[in-house]
Amino acid sequence: MFKIGCHLSSSKGYKNMAEEAHQIGANTFQFFTRNPRGGSAKAIDENDIAEFQKLAQEYGIDVILAHAPYTLNCCSDKPDVREFAINTMKDDLSRMEYTPNQLYNFHPGSHVGQGIETGIKYIIDALNMVLTAEQSTTVLLETMAGKGSEIGSQFEEIRQIMEGVKCQDKLGVCFDTCHISDAGYDIVNNLEGVLEEFDKIIGLERLKAIHLNDSMNPLGAHKDRHQKIGEGTLGMETFEKIINHPQLRDLPFFLETPNELVGYEKEIGILKKLYR
Ligand code: FE
Ligand code: FE
Ligand code: ZN
Repeated sequence: MFKIGCHLSSSKGYKNMAEEAHQIGANTFQFFTRNPRGGSAKAIDENDIAEFQKLAQEYGIDVILAHAPYTLNCCSDKPDVREFAINTMKDDLSRMEYTPNQLYNFHPGSHVGQGIETGIKYIIDALNMVLTAEQSTTVLLETMAGKGSEIGSQFEEIRQIMEGVKCQDKLGVCFDTCHISDAGYDIVNNLEGVLEEFDKIIGLERLKAIHLNDSMNPLGAHKDRHQKIGEGTLGMETFEKIINHPQLRDLPFFLETPNELVGYEKEIGILKKLYR
């Protein structure tokens, strides 16, 4: 089955997200665990979760993806910033257990001039403090565009992080199409080659989710500006290939394109028609 959804606002709770997803033809969705600029999360409402679980069953929503605030930086040069990221992720993961066996995505972070090696070491340390053998959630490292000093734009960096983590079975990867292209991987002309490289370096079995975004910028631009599907430098044909690719087609796909709900609904409709 085609698992397709988009980023939704979590401000009205889980039940509301299930309703919204269903209304726009989605059977999965992504949401921020809290205000993306940081801050504390709303208390979990167990009634809301119970109603969500009922609706999820009715609507065939079996996977959801929580996104950590994008302001977190596990590999900052400031100890208090690193500590805040670790505490936030710990808190998010304990909340995720109200919806067991789901996915939690985060941006590895920016080394802010300390160098990639130091940055990677901090990210490994953070994950080793955050992940537990008991958790049911799979934590995903998102592939990044390589803007500024971002870590995780190269597959080797993601592998190095994963290799240093003790609870490796709790880790996966989220492949962002805009970021991958901005990072210099040519998924327009050489999707097969990029996936082969991913498989060789990280392992395709580690890939758990895909962010579907077109890019405003050309290959290798390191800019991270998302565009609507088919309206950027990747183009509709690339998305058609990705969603139908035998090694990708069963993964959940999430739109993070510059859209309101109606725009998402339209893109979901187009992608459903292209899915064979
Ligand atoms: Fe992201
Ligand atoms: Fe993304
Ligand atoms: Zn992005």
